[in-house]
Amino acid sequence: MNDAEQIRANIASVRERMAAACERSGRDPDSVRLLLATKTVEPDRVRVAIEAGEKLVAENRVQEVKPKFEALRDLEYERHFIGHLQSNKINALVPYVSCIQTLDRISLARKLQAKLEREGESREVLIQVNTSGEETKAGLEPGELEGFVREVSAMDALEIRGLMTIGLNAPDPEDARESLGRLRRLADEIRQLNIEGVEMGELSMGMTGDLEVAVEEGSTIVRVGSAIFGGRPLPQEG
Ligand SMILES: *Cc1c(COP(=O)(O)O)cnc(C)c1O
Repeated sequence: MNDAEQIRANIASVRERMAAACERSGRDPDSVRLLLATKTVEPDRVRVAIEAGEKLVAENRVQEVKPKFEALRDLEYERHFIGHLQSNKINALVPYVSCIQTLDRISLARKLQAKLEREGESREVLIQVNTSGEETKAGLEPGELEGFVREVSAMDALEIRGLMTIGLNAPDPEDARESLGRLRRLADEIRQLNIEGVEMGELSMGMTGDLEVAVEEGSTIVRVGSAIFGGRPLPQEG
């Protein structure tokens, strides 16, 4: 198999894993989207995946966003951001994405709101929660979530659509179930508060190693990189 064929075969097998997990948990396969996590992946290889029918792509590193957008601008697909966002990179990111999945602090929310407001624009956001308690993980503590959501809900350029998390990093994906399930329960709790302008429809969780468990726990967006594009050069964090 050449590289393009391999990418297409990998997509098919990830989609089979998603379908099997939906089946097992009685979920409609259309209720979970596949997001391609394309950090460090060359634009031509991302193109193969989009031309195979994939519609949702995300980067981790702001510096990769514009070059890939330029290289793939003839294609129609949705672009999200899933990396740690530094405030000084907001201007370089915002024009190229429809959704920032990693909103994790109020100072960042205020700066995004200010920029978008000036330009008469808005963006969808997911709020990143640290559900595993690992100190190295980004995201709000679960206990901070309600207050954060209330504060951001007043920022009219930021449309809260749901939550995002990275599950517990463990060799056995079953060990991530507790943290992934926690994200769903947190979204349910927030939904019951009926805060104006706040939607909790999206749960972005599940990666190459734990996507089945994530789907079983209610994920609506699984973010997959290495199962489709192969291993990445280390370090992986963007
Ligand atoms: C890299 C990355 C992924 C995909 O990870 P894989 O294990 O390669 O599927 C998902 N989410 C985030 C935030 C990432 O940085």
